[in-house]
Amino acid sequence: MIIIVGGGIAGLALGWCLTKKGEKITVIEQHHVGSGASGVASAYLEPRLGLGAMRNLEWASIKAWPGFVAETEQASGKSIDYRSNGQLRPAFADSIDGVKNDAEARQAQGWNIQWLEGKELRNREPNLSPDIISAAYLPGVHWLDGRLLCQALAIAITNAGGTIIEGEKVTEIQHEHGQVTGAKTQNSTFRATRIVLSSAIDTNDIEGLPPELPKCRPVKGAIISLGMDSQHPLTSHLLRHPNGHVLTPRSDGRLLVGSTHEDDETSTHVPEDTRMRLKQSAIDLLPAAANLTITEATSGIRALIGDGTLRLGVSKTIPSLYYTLSHAGAGFLRAPAIAEQFADFIFDPASPCPLIDRFLHRG
Ligand SMILES: Cc1cc2nc3c(=O)[nH]c(=O)nc-3n(C[C@H](O)[C@H](O)[C@H](O)COP(=O)(O)OP(=O)(O)OC[C@H]3O[C@@H](n4cnc5c(N)ncnc54)[C@H](O)[C@@H]3O)c2cc1C
Repeated sequence: MIIIVGGGIAGLALGWCLTKKGEKITVIEQHHVGSGASGVASAYLEPRLGLGAMRNLEWASIKAWPGFVAETEQASGKSIDYRSNGQLRPAFADSIDGVKNDAEARQAQGWNIQWLEGKELRNREPNLSPDIISAAYLPGVHWLDGRLLCQALAIAITNAGGTIIEGEKVTEIQHEHGQVTGAKTQNSTFRATRIVLSSAIDTNDIEGLPPELPKCRPVKGAIISLGMDSQHPLTSHLLRHPNGHVLTPRSDGRLLVGSTHEDDETSTHVPEDTRMRLKQSAIDLLPAAANLTITEATSGIRALIGDGTLRLGVSKTIPSLYYTLSHAGAGFLRAPAIAEQFADFIFDPASPCPLIDRFLHRG
């Protein structure tokens, strides 16, 4: 029996991959699945510029996403609102050089990017501000609804014989003679032979962890939702403002606008000036957004260890205690590739895990 602590994208995607391998898993979630950062994120899938092991992992994950979505939707019977309309990066007169340079740098690294102007751009997105001169179009950037995905994975796991327990907070990992024996919650103790920590920032509060497991640090991110008419959305593309804010349309009519980056901040409050700043970014790109109401203002905590490098592995002193942590601001982008290969490692520690090897602490 494997217990997974935390029902965010990291724990649920891993739980699903382990279930497919025939492992008996139980996910224990303190609130409800997707109640952490995974339920707040815009969940767009866009690797950063650059090369190296992390970019390889991210591009492999991008390729894996359509299959992962199809499989999850089929196994759960639930849509996760996966959208593949691509991203537009609109440019104003004072930002055109930056948008062009970025597009050229991406093209040099093999990205498919088209430059749109005039009628072609307006036909694609008629509601864009007249001040927008041109835009880079990145057809490969997709996105999904993280809340729906977490719910769908939980259903898929349950349908396949796994267990999801919500409303139980793991307070302590119990171990004897270097082996885990169980996870203690406020109400009960769950026996296990292996435990995986995917509890992000709240891992810091769990007792009984070995000292070699570093603490996570928080980076708060706030997002607002504007209520569009779902039959007549203001945009069908993901829109990236030159200031870095991203507008993400959902099929249910929400237009998410985010997000902020606030180091060492854990309060969930989204102050009025932050709401207005985010709404202004939407208005800059889509003037008609001025008429939309803010229907939700949420914040989530990105959990980082050290410089934010992904951290996967197994404890040296308790070799049946695993962790998948420090997913930082890209936990969705990387999820299918990480889950697949980390599940291989848990199933058989001798497995080659080429995509995650650079981030994997093998104990
Ligand atoms: C505003 C914002 C925007 C983002 N946008 C994107 C994006 O566009 N694309 C992208 O790829 N990533 C994005 N991210 C990052 C992404 O959301 C995270 O990397 C990802 O959600 C991390 O997943 P996780 O499962 O590790 O953590 P979480 O989703 O935080 O899940 C951890 C879960 O563990 C549970 N838990 C914790 N402690 C315990 C305990 N003791 N007992 C039981 N349960 C416990 C929590 O309740 C929580 O549900 C964004 C993040 C934020 C905040």
